[in-house]
Amino acid sequence: MDRQPLEETLEWKTRTWYGLPTRIVVSSQNVHRVWANGLFLPHVGLVNLMSRQGLPTRVRLELTARHEFGHLQTLPVPLVHLLSLAWVWWRNPAPRWWKLLLALVAHQAVWELAAEGYVIATDPRAVRFPRPTWAHRLYRVFWAGMALLATGATYLLSRSGPSE
Ligand SMILES: [Zn+2]
Repeated sequence: MDRQPLEETLEWKTRTWYGLPTRIVVSSQNVHRVWANGLFLPHVGLVNLMSRQGLPTRVRLELTARHEFGHLQTLPVPLVHLLSLAWVWWRNPAPRWWKLLLALVAHQAVWELAAEGYVIATDPRAVRFPRPTWAHRLYRVFWAGMALLATGATYLLSRSGPSE
């Protein structure tokens, strides 16, 4: 007989600070579903997979749901970043392909940092809950990597001239 690991899910119905009705369903199989005012937003669980290593399933699910909600709660942060990228576009309407890729990477990294920042600000277990040293290190690698991608890629975009 096949033994499938039992899937645990957590559902959270709430509202963002700007009034958007939100439904979040996260799963121990790392499949996360978010509905913002009924609009389905699929989300890759890679960041949560990396950030929640070494934690018990329940804590993992609760922090994961908070991360997904954090994406919506901190929406103005990536929007401001998007405006700064729009400024680069305005200066250079026909950017090279690598600039588009860089913009995408920077934007995603900013959004992940904002969402995870929200998790840390609202639930200290994200940092303080006991977990193996390697899992703590992995979490630090996430922060360092995302910060480097967000600031590095944004800096490169802001510094490059129209001919590059
Ligand atoms: Zn995320």
